[in-house]
Amino acid sequence: MSIADRIRSIRATLPEGVELVAVSKFHPVEQILEAYEAGQRSFGESRIQELTEKAPQLPADVNWHFIGHLQTNKVRRLVGHATLIESIDSERLLELVDSESERAGVTSRVLLQVHVAQEETKFGFSPEELLDYFGARRFEKLRATHLCGLMAMASNTDDAERVREDFRRVAELRRRILELAPDLRGFDILSMGMSDDYRTAIEEGSTHVRIGTAIFGERAAAQNPEIQNQSK
Ligand SMILES: *Cc1c(COP(=O)(O)O)cnc(C)c1O
Repeated sequence: MSIADRIRSIRATLPEGVELVAVSKFHPVEQILEAYEAGQRSFGESRIQELTEKAPQLPADVNWHFIGHLQTNKVRRLVGHATLIESIDSERLLELVDSESERAGVTSRVLLQVHVAQEETKFGFSPEELLDYFGARRFEKLRATHLCGLMAMASNTDDAERVREDFRRVAELRRRILELAPDLRGFDILSMGMSDDYRTAIEEGSTHVRIGTAIFGERAAAQNPEIQNQSK
């Protein structure tokens, strides 16, 4: 199947209101263009350098989603170049994105990455940290950042019930956050679900699925050690 065919067949299964983010990390611009020509507009990248190299080679109406671990010393290079930064994994990083956005005169849209998976290596806030953050209303300090929701990865396991439970906890966490801060506006996105588990994620309330392999095929893992840390 071609990239275009895969995109069409995935789209055909997505309920209304669920957005497809095509994860193009480690795949060449030509393949992204093929997806673009099939109507795909949102793409996910996990490294700043790769994103900033690819973006000028593609049409300006592409929405870039940053989904990788963001190092504090690279924030300035990303701000203003991503439609959505999905992987804010600490309060320190959030504050830095906010101050750099203010400095650049832009508003950044971000998701807070939650750690619910059983692996210890994955980045993200714990659910308790987020409840504390919203309970104490520290989000009121933000000046140039719009909190748009949560992003998470499920455990890397064949145990389908565990995966479902992980997604359920994220959806539940969003509800609890909105109870703590009912005035929070636009905290609507639940970005969860990858090639192997997006159907379950949708059943548990996902609004954005991030799909790479099922669209573009396998990534060349041997040349890209980051993959071992960043994906399942
Ligand atoms: C790589 C990656 C994906 C895509 O994973 P696939 O299994 O290839 O669909 C989704 N989300 C994040 C955060 C990733 O790093």
